[in-house]
Amino acid sequence: MTKLKEYKMFINGEWVDSESKKTFKTLNPENNEPWAIVPEANNKDVDKAVKAAQKAFDGEWPKLLPRERGKYLRAIGNQLRENAELLGKIETIDTGKLFRETNKQANYIAEYYDYYAGLADKVEGTVLPIDKPNIQAITTRIPIGVIAAIVPWNSQMFLTATKLAPALAMGNTVVIKCSELAPATMFEFAKLIEKTGIPKGVVNVISGFGEPCGKALTSHDLVEKIAFTGGPETARHIIRNSAENLSEVSLELGGKSPVAVFSDAHQENAINGITAGIFGATGQSCIAGSRLYIQNEIYDEFLEKLVKKAKKIKIGSPMNADTEMGPISNFKQLETIEKNIKITVDQGGKIKCGGKRDSFSNKGYYFPPTIIECENHNLPTAENELFGPVLSVMRFESEEEVIKKMNDNKYGLSSGIYTKDLARGLRVSNAIRAGITFVNTYRLISPSAPFGGIKDSGYGKEAGIDSIKDYTRVKTTWFYTSDEPTLDPFSMR
Ligand code: NAD
Repeated sequence: MTKLKEYKMFINGEWVDSESKKTFKTLNPENNEPWAIVPEANNKDVDKAVKAAQKAFDGEWPKLLPRERGKYLRAIGNQLRENAELLGKIETIDTGKLFRETNKQANYIAEYYDYYAGLADKVEGTVLPIDKPNIQAITTRIPIGVIAAIVPWNSQMFLTATKLAPALAMGNTVVIKCSELAPATMFEFAKLIEKTGIPKGVVNVISGFGEPCGKALTSHDLVEKIAFTGGPETARHIIRNSAENLSEVSLELGGKSPVAVFSDAHQENAINGITAGIFGATGQSCIAGSRLYIQNEIYDEFLEKLVKKAKKIKIGSPMNADTEMGPISNFKQLETIEKNIKITVDQGGKIKCGGKRDSFSNKGYYFPPTIIECENHNLPTAENELFGPVLSVMRFESEEEVIKKMNDNKYGLSSGIYTKDLARGLRVSNAIRAGITFVNTYRLISPSAPFGGIKDSGYGKEAGIDSIKDYTRVKTTWFYTSDEPTLDPFSMR
């Protein structure tokens, strides 16, 4: 048997095992075999990491000139570029995501650190127009303190960057809890953090399960803010935990994103965008466009072309350069997908392609691109977030009807519209209750574009210029400007 790769946690600038010496294995979804072993953090480890972060926050880090902190962020970006291939490989082994995507993403994520490095010295305060004589008051933005960053298994590098980069730029310190389903990339990333020479304790990386590790972190009394990305059920636990420490919470949750194709759409472009939206990353993307509404006039023709394209998708090893879809990341997810498909078919859903595991599935967690025609969007595959390559397709007649249908879901993360009529594109976008709408495109990210949802998809935006302020708090300072003593000390003025 091949020797498992061993990782340690990164706490206070040191590489450590868990206090209990407990570990767990992480599996390669391509072949369902364990390949690495990581420490399992308990309450004591969490306490150690949070206290290290607090000590760093009480030290020089928040007092550094913003541009000096920016230099560390740029150094992190450079490390990412230099090590993109290694990071990509590790992430692919741990998650099953295509190497061509993970490698590219590791390079691109560097841009987020550059972006927030540039913003570090651009956050200004205000002078307040105070209604009292001999008084001046100003506001400044101060760092919050220890931030708990909790990330899911998919796109950990990206979802860490949108939290870590603004947090560090503004002088906070951070404890990152990586996902128990794919922790390795974050430890490789921590090695790069160490190379930048950032002061000890400013960034800490721990691994463990929701309980006890996640719970201990989100209820720790020294944690001031929780930046969470994951599912809505976990978010509910986290909000309850935060009642213990009264910390601020931001939530990036799931989605069941609707896409509408109008009869005037550029069909080839729409097919490519829809394919990227639901089959890219094997559908394991929070913004996956998994509910498709096609206008009646083009319904049959468009669906036929889409199915033809889906059937051609090349499934294979995520390391191969020509693979278009790799495996699902974990077995539980595969079971959820199959269960939802079964109920949908029992209730009248018609499978146009895929729908069940094929020969690839013997070893790894492979599932083919699946398209299901649904009479209505209350069938399980059309209503629930599946986090897999499953597209539910429905018809619509009018603009008004499709807006209603697109909004009829508890989530509100992303959405898509395909039409050549840009006035309609804007009108429909304005009417859709979602944090993101793509018009004639899909699945794009950028450091300058705010990312996040509404409704059950959470609250708080990540990335973009405003997100930097989310890692500060406003402080008001009052000045008395007269040389004369103040008057009556017993009445508030
Ligand atoms: P998850 O909610 O199961 O886990 C996310 C993280 O929360 C993990 O690190 C986990 O260990 C931790 N956790 C679990 N229980 C906890 C607790 N009680 N206290 C504190 N932490 C706890 O999510 P997942 O299955 O890893 O990821 C998939 C979900 O993430 C999907 O719903 C997906 O849509 C969502 N997601 C959202 C975005 C976004 O930006 N909106 C991006 C990617 C993924």
